Amino acid sequence: MNPDLRDFIKTVEREDPDNVLRISKQVGVKYEITSCALELEKQGKTPLLIFEIVEGYSQPVVTNVFGSRKKYAQILGVPEDLLIDEWVARSNSEIEPVEVSEGPVKEVIMTGVDVNLEKLPILTHFTQDGGPYITSGIVVAKHPQTGTRNASFHRLQLKGQKKLGISLHSRRHLWEYQRIAEDQGEALEVAVVIGAHPLFYFGSGLWKGPIEVDEYKIAGGFLGMPLEILKCETADLEVPSNAEIVLEGKILPNTREDEGPFGEFTGYASKNSTRHVLEISAILQRNDAIYQDIVPGISAEHTLLLGIPQEARIFERVKSVVPTVKAVSYPPSAACRFHCYISMKKVAEGQSANAIFTAFAEDLSLKLVVVVDEDINVYHEREVLWALATRFQADRGLFVVPRCMGALLDPSADGGLTAKMGIDATKPLTGWQAERCTIPEDISRKVRKEMGIV
Ligand code: MN
Repeated sequence: MNPDLRDFIKTVEREDPDNVLRISKQVGVKYEITSCALELEKQGKTPLLIFEIVEGYSQPVVTNVFGSRKKYAQILGVPEDLLIDEWVARSNSEIEPVEVSEGPVKEVIMTGVDVNLEKLPILTHFTQDGGPYITSGIVVAKHPQTGTRNASFHRLQLKGQKKLGISLHSRRHLWEYQRIAEDQGEALEVAVVIGAHPLFYFGSGLWKGPIEVDEYKIAGGFLGMPLEILKCETADLEVPSNAEIVLEGKILPNTREDEGPFGEFTGYASKNSTRHVLEISAILQRNDAIYQDIVPGISAEHTLLLGIPQEARIFERVKSVVPTVKAVSYPPSAACRFHCYISMKKVAEGQSANAIFTAFAEDLSLKLVVVVDEDINVYHEREVLWALATRFQADRGLFVVPRCMGALLDPSADGGLTAKMGIDATKPLTGWQAERCTIPEDISRKVRKEMGIV
């Protein structure tokens, strides 16, 4: 049996109880849940949050499942320093999904007049938002010609009992599928998965590979076992058998309506949208279904979802060019999206520049790449900035490339065009005089032990 969201919550409550908060006081769907997550985050806390009683709704709301790097490491079952290695290993293994005839997601099946999205506790997150938004939805679809399955995150605005607004602004695979279907004058059937085990989200929603790959196979790779799927009721699609909630429907052809604004990972309310419309034909859900939300905006949860898969991807790609790369970080200060820090053991001059341009070629959203030596911990931003302060000279180590394709959601980009800046903050291989202040390691070890400093 595949693990599900409930199994995961139980595991965290058992193994890391300080990082779960159950709130039994009644809360409202408008701003309150998001506010709770963000107030805690201001204090450096990002626990998994379970709101048991939500005013006006029968279902509990879970949010902040993906709130810290520690949580990702726990989900993958490795220490935090092996998180990226493990991610790379799992994302390179494919396991075929297996179809089953029944599963808990079909405990409740609603079609026709019973379909009412307004019964779900869909949150309104920010003052500027155009309405309530589903933020944890993985949208599943099949390529109109080849049948290859794609699964990806999209923001979904509640627009009525059977209607959602959807933006395909990343202009990747789902956008391509819809474009092909629309060219034939047809709707694109989709299923939206809300609430599943984090490993399903990792493999299906976050993995960004070629368009030819069935993303349920990658979900299997992350799960370490075949993903169990079952047929939808009103669409020719399959969904995880133990998801909490599934919406079935279609993206309408030649139909566009305003969607947004939505509080995006940049920290700004975004009006940019492809303005597609999704009509819902069925809702499947478990008895006592849990509604999962992802804290949007520039929250730890939202930005880590963007950053960690990219760290793994860039690490893999740079390693093929510079085998001595040590680590890659997408810092939260840049929304885990626009800046990237790379550490490496430089063995030949020029390798830093090659790493910089490899990263830019791989990820169009990047605007700044900083390369540092292997003694710098790229996950401690202060160390990176110290390397910048003491090892970098702008007349030698700075690269600027104007007018490249960039992220549409970057408010400073010029119609999607952006300049790329690379900084080589590594020491030169010859002629470097300065020596770092250190304390003998055996003394440090002894002091840590005797003073109980962990
Ligand atoms: Mn894809």
